[in-house]
Amino acid sequence: MSSLVIQDLHISIGDKPIVKGLTLTINQGEVHAIMGPNGTGKSTLAKAIAGHPDYTITSGDVVIDGKSILELEPDERARAGIFLAFQYPSEIPGVTIANFLRAALQARLSEGEELDATAYYKRLYSKMDLLKIDRKFTSRAVNDGFSGGEKKRCEILQMAMIEPAFALMDETDSGLDIDALRIVADGVNALRGEKLGILLITHYQRLLNHIIPDFVHVMYDGRIVKSGDKDLALHLEEHGYDWVKKEAEATA
Ligand code: ADP
Ligand code: MG
Ligand code: MG
Repeated sequence: MSSLVIQDLHISIGDKPIVKGLTLTINQGEVHAIMGPNGTGKSTLAKAIAGHPDYTITSGDVVIDGKSILELEPDERARAGIFLAFQYPSEIPGVTIANFLRAALQARLSEGEELDATAYYKRLYSKMDLLKIDRKFTSRAVNDGFSGGEKKRCEILQMAMIEPAFALMDETDSGLDIDALRIVADGVNALRGEKLGILLITHYQRLLNHIIPDFVHVMYDGRIVKSGDKDLALHLEEHGYDWVKKEAEATA
């Protein structure tokens, strides 16, 4: 079993500190939800771990199986097992989902290794069956006129095909319609299991009515200020974030 260990992480954008000492261990098989008000650094955390160049890690470490990943390029981090979902890849005219996913998998192989076409389609169809996705879906071009739900379906399928050890899922603040919410929840529930650790970032409690997380963390002003289980999410739904802010400010 692998672990993704985030140790006292500090992240800046330009000169501005955003994440201010965040510590969290995600083991394969666990679903961790991070909740928190807008602007607390949730997306910053996910992007910095994935290796986005705009985010500078000023101190702390991110370690997989005892090895720091901070010196790795984004594609090397992906090969080390990290997948960043919900990045809304833009439209790719003329490239079908099937070919896009095939290229994404091929890119993860070592040089000279060839992705076998028969094996690829077998895997694709088994994942589509698992996720109850219609066979016609993968012959469409990536994001071409996709609804919110179809974008999510494409992303979940990509995650299923790549089989990462750790998925960082960042739900954007623009919110999900009911259809998209159900697709994300059903997808996560189908894929969760002992080989996958999930960091599910969300602004909204309602997603957690459908995905029961093992752990819930509240992030405020760049730190985790509270951790618990699913009941913490219910408490937040009922009471909002004001009490978290007061507690955090009282101890700061
Ligand atoms: P959250 O996901 O919790 O809503 P973000 O990580 O998106 O928070 O943002 C945290 C803070 O960093 C906010 O104050 C936001 O304005 C700032 N920020 C995020 N991205 C950028 C960026 N690319 N350039 C400058 N500031 C940014
Ligand atoms: Mg935000
Ligand atoms: Mg965000």
